[in-house]
Amino acid sequence: MIESKLPHVGTTIFTRMSSLAHECGALNLSQGFPDFGAPKPLLDALVRRVSAGHNQYAPMAGVTELREQIAAQLVRYRGVTCDPDTEITVVPGATEGIFCAITACIHPGDEVLLFDPCYDSYEPAIALAGGRAVHLSLTPDNFAIDWQQVGDSITPRTRMIVVNSPHNPTGAILSWDDLLELERLAELHDLLVISDEVYEHLVFDGQDHHSVLQLPALRQRSFAVFSFGKTYSVTGWKTGYCIAPHGLMAELRKVHQFVCFVANTPVQLALADFMAAEPDYPGTLADFYQAKRDLFCQALSSSRFNLAPSAGTYFQLLEYSKVSDTPDQELASQWTREIGIASIPISVFYQDSSPGHYLRFCFAKNDDVLLEASDRLCKI
Ligand code: PMP
Ligand code: GLN
Repeated sequence: MIESKLPHVGTTIFTRMSSLAHECGALNLSQGFPDFGAPKPLLDALVRRVSAGHNQYAPMAGVTELREQIAAQLVRYRGVTCDPDTEITVVPGATEGIFCAITACIHPGDEVLLFDPCYDSYEPAIALAGGRAVHLSLTPDNFAIDWQQVGDSITPRTRMIVVNSPHNPTGAILSWDDLLELERLAELHDLLVISDEVYEHLVFDGQDHHSVLQLPALRQRSFAVFSFGKTYSVTGWKTGYCIAPHGLMAELRKVHQFVCFVANTPVQLALADFMAAEPDYPGTLADFYQAKRDLFCQALSSSRFNLAPSAGTYFQLLEYSKVSDTPDQELASQWTREIGIASIPISVFYQDSSPGHYLRFCFAKNDDVLLEASDRLCKI
């Protein structure tokens, strides 16, 4: 037997809950993926690109057409420019981009600040690099960052902060002031930043997504990570991208070329085709998903759950203390088996105990599924 490098890591909660949902024939509101199709022209573009023979290795950093489209979208949606040759790398999923950024930058003994509830892929990457994850908690009620606590937690060994906005699993978003504070602390203590912005286009109620790329000093020390899976409803295509200044990107690419070498060629070309033909598409997503959030939340208004409508992402937290005092992991399994609704227990995203009784529900689902799920939840 080998000595495990990740002795405390099991199979992810997303895989476990989706399998259980499948086994039980439950409505699967657990793992985050749409149950509806991707835009037809995007699917057609992939068929066309495969049939036309674009089936060999892409350039290591990604196909030029796609990197140019990414740069054009950055101007369109965030008002900032970047160099597609040196500052953008297409990766086989945001997960790989995050792994490569951490592996490239973290040395044994380096500390990385994370905020609980924290997306599950960050800590194993830090551990494999020999770093130490330092977990801070988002504030219990509104899941905000306590910057005073961040400042107090920085030590001479702190090398990096990982932020995620819009935030999975809580749906909270960082404000411009949050980013200014992040910039101030990162500059003061010479820290690197990974900014996980995979839900950048899913921000509701007329609010804006703020990217680290929009603050020039912060940008100089940040890797911003995005996922086509979220924006174009193709999570199974496992394609995303990372944007970072030239020096940081050069280091990321050294790792990326030996983890995966390249992302999938025809998928990249199909995405480039679709982005060129329909540049406005990402701008339609906020209204589309807000309508789903509102449908789900309104249908739950007669339930005994407490909820604050999500500010972003396609996840909605339900607080269930009036319904049950069963721990969330047990309850998520129980409800999958007994009432046929799978959700994600959020205590798994905390290093220490979680502050409340929350389950996460994905509302990237057809309206009839959301209505059936809320009907069942109202009866509990
Ligand atoms: N970060 C967050 C916060 C996510 O929810 C996800 C889920 N897909 C990822 C990263 C990974 O994205 P990808 O599927 O592109 O690897
Ligand atoms: N990001 C998705 C979620 O939060 C899941 C991705 C995965 O299964 N690793 O549900």
